[in-house]
Amino acid sequence: MKPKTEIQKRVVSLSEKLPELSYDQITWAKENCFKKVAHKRKNSYLCLECGELFPIGKQRQYAKPKVVVCPHCDNLLKIEESKKRTSSESHYYSIYTVAEEFQVLRHFLVKKECKGGRESEVHFLEAVQNWISPEGEFFNISRSTVQSHYYDAWSSNSVLELRGYSNYPQKYEVYAKFIYPKQSFIPRLRRNGFKRGLHGISPYYLLPALLTKSKAETLMKAKQYSLLRSYCLSMSTAIERNWGSIKICLRNNYQVKDTAIWLDYIDLLEHFGKDIRNAKYVCPDDLMKEHDRLSDKRMKELQNEQEEDKKRKAAKDEKEFRDMKSKYFGIAFSDGLINVVVLDSVQEYIKDGELLHHCVFSNEYYKKDDSLILSARIDDAPIETVEISLDDYSVIQSRGLQNQNSKYHKQILELVNSNTHLFRKSNKSTQFVKQQMAEAI
Ligand SMILES: [Zn+2]
Repeated sequence: MKPKTEIQKRVVSLSEKLPELSYDQITWAKENCFKKVAHKRKNSYLCLECGELFPIGKQRQYAKPKVVVCPHCDNLLKIEESKKRTSSESHYYSIYTVAEEFQVLRHFLVKKECKGGRESEVHFLEAVQNWISPEGEFFNISRSTVQSHYYDAWSSNSVLELRGYSNYPQKYEVYAKFIYPKQSFIPRLRRNGFKRGLHGISPYYLLPALLTKSKAETLMKAKQYSLLRSYCLSMSTAIERNWGSIKICLRNNYQVKDTAIWLDYIDLLEHFGKDIRNAKYVCPDDLMKEHDRLSDKRMKELQNEQEEDKKRKAAKDEKEFRDMKSKYFGIAFSDGLINVVVLDSVQEYIKDGELLHHCVFSNEYYKKDDSLILSARIDDAPIETVEISLDDYSVIQSRGLQNQNSKYHKQILELVNSNTHLFRKSNKSTQFVKQQMAEAI
């Protein structure tokens, strides 16, 4: 886009005056951005630095067996097993510099191409410049991109131009793996606590934050890098909200090493009514342990709440359950030791589920219209819970404590199987009554 405002015009004009990469900057990139490699074949090595072949076995032995020195170019090479004659590798390489009052981050795409029989070549393409004013105003200058499934496929034919809105603003954010070590920064960044180290935070976010947000400055000066990272990247709202507790950490020299866990922990403290302005809670010696303890407690609470909700709902389901299953209520039989009864209320399901620690209630078996639940008991204590099919009254399953079989399992199955006529009769009589009622109406 064409620069319109005074400051945009100034940025573009300063950008045009930026120097080419210096000899030192180029040399540093060549030496540091790429590994030097020899491809090992059957009888020879191919040096990808000078493109020459040399035979295996006549080289000096090194302590590290995976390297070899090329007798042609004298480079120390990492040995890779490969029959390929070419290789190509590219990276971002950044120069952090100053132009008048602006902080400038210059990002180059640096590509090394190696081919057998030829000396390797390194190409530089300046792709993006981030310009940051002392007030934190941000400008992107870049080449255009070509149609590709990569958002940063820079076109080498295009020119560096001031950019406005983009659907892919992330293409202007370059956090290069390789940064030229001689860097300059504007005085205001230094005043706001910046001392070169990025602490794992992309400068695209860190530098403007330091220029515009006093909390970023405070966190930087207090060396709270985890909090600073979260503040610059994604959790600024949560950090703003918990600033009171963060101040307690700063006052007590307490380092928050894992912001996400710490914020989660503060939420838990708040939930359990603890004082989140008290260092005793806010600055735990073992954050992970305290976090896990409260987190477990909360999990149990949620489970209980869920159970309570279900029970409340079950009370509502009681009528529906009666309409569906009441024709079997009152059926009971015994072999002298074991008594089997039909569960005749949702509350009974809850009781059997709780006593035997299984899911007869939580999985809402009382809602199933094709089966019926019985409780096998000794002296009124549930031993197993039995599900029978309402199609043929056969046993579908019978479960004891924690879904295991009790020692009476077989006996219970026999008892139920020998009494299926009771259910059959009950169903028939109900159908008979229904028919009579229908006729009477
Ligand atoms: Zn060589």
